[in-house]
Amino acid sequence: MSAAGEAGILILGAGQGGFQAAASLRDCGYEGRLVLVGDEPGLPYQRPPLSKAYMKSEAGIEQIELRAGAFYADHRIELVNARATAIDRAGQLVLLEGGAALPYAHLILATGARNRPLPVPGHDLAGVFYLRTLADADALRGKLDVARRVVVIGAGFIGLEFAAVARALGHEVTVLEGAGRVLARAVSPDMSAFFADAHAAMGTKLVLGAGVVGLKGEGGHVTGVETGDGTVHPADFVLVGIGVVPNVELAADAGLEVANGIVVDAHLATMDPAISGLGDAVAYPSRFAGGNVRLESVQNAADQARSLAHRLTGKPAPFDAVPWFWSDQSDLKLQIVGLAAATDSAVLRGDPASRRFSVFRFRDGVLTAIESVNRPADHMLGRRLLAGTPAITPAQAGDESFELKSLLAK
Ligand SMILES: Cc1cc2nc3c(=O)[nH]c(=O)nc-3n(C[C@H](O)[C@H](O)[C@H](O)COP(=O)(O)OP(=O)(O)OC[C@H]3O[C@@H](n4cnc5c(N)ncnc54)[C@H](O)[C@@H]3O)c2cc1C
Repeated sequence: MSAAGEAGILILGAGQGGFQAAASLRDCGYEGRLVLVGDEPGLPYQRPPLSKAYMKSEAGIEQIELRAGAFYADHRIELVNARATAIDRAGQLVLLEGGAALPYAHLILATGARNRPLPVPGHDLAGVFYLRTLADADALRGKLDVARRVVVIGAGFIGLEFAAVARALGHEVTVLEGAGRVLARAVSPDMSAFFADAHAAMGTKLVLGAGVVGLKGEGGHVTGVETGDGTVHPADFVLVGIGVVPNVELAADAGLEVANGIVVDAHLATMDPAISGLGDAVAYPSRFAGGNVRLESVQNAADQARSLAHRLTGKPAPFDAVPWFWSDQSDLKLQIVGLAAATDSAVLRGDPASRRFSVFRFRDGVLTAIESVNRPADHMLGRRLLAGTPAITPAQAGDESFELKSLLAK
């Protein structure tokens, strides 16, 4: 197989990270051919508003597109709307659905992740939705026009953000979570308890330890969600938010190493020097995780893209950005910086009843993460502290009279 055209940098996946890689390569002075291949229609867009302002109809498509169309022409970024079906490493080609092939001198895999499907009977009934893409969001938004009973399966970020929006729009919302607390994979038990209370106060019915065993339907449309105890939770429609799986198949089929993500090194290179990877799709070595980790955040995808653009234009440095994340639920802005393990201890700073507080996480007396609600100063300070060797004690973290800023002056 051969392909016409100059072999430059080809980016596979036109999401947050793929877009940023293209933009940063031009910022860094890359002058060669730059092709951005994505299988979603339209211009690259941001996903976070899909479960926030866009879902509330407070933002339209123009507000969520990463750049207007002219940007791509101005920066000589070729946008190709197609699904890639294979990577030919020997020939340095990406094969597209329909038979075309695109050559590359360097390939960046930014294929992201897809929704984890609900593995129970009834999962394919009409009225069962997921939320990953603009198309998913448009389908869901259409359901929010008329007051309905909504069941959300999964109390992760997407499930809870959607629940907050649906409640604000007057829907009857039930959230079913299999674990014993909300946001269990991401935050401390204290923070989980705060968000569980906050959603209950919004009027959402939250059921913990609720394993979903099946979906009930009539005439092919979902009518309820059955949990392990035999309860059927009535539903006019259902949102499934039970996590994602990374899009690794192209890489695996091409013989690249895959282990909960496409494996890359500290420079975001795969085992093939002509192929790099970034974003939700990759597992990379992180000092914050103490090993390989796959993160799902805008910061991770965008910072990895910038790091890679620097390397590919002759300024290599290991990727070492401090991980951070945010989630908006009603008037609560949760910000997390660092990576905590489930067993890390937690020190409260401020009063949760004030809806402005932080939880500082420690392992062996060393700060690993800060979870903040409506306290952006703690979060910003955490980004600076964690970039170095954070010298803060649990006692200082818990003492509101202790000036955190004094730690930076040293
Ligand atoms: C509803 C929602 C809310 C979110 N909220 C937040 C938030 O508040 N804060 C935060 O930090 N993060 C948030 N995230 C996560 C964040 O959006 C992702 O971490 C980020 O988009 C990852 O970027 P990426 O480039 O790795 O992947 P993506 O943005 O998913 O892009 C990957 C692209 O590659 C395409 N692709 C895959 N395979 C192929 C193929 N074979 N051929 C062609 N194209 C392909 C995909 O269709 C997709 O368009 C949210 C995500 C969602 C879904």
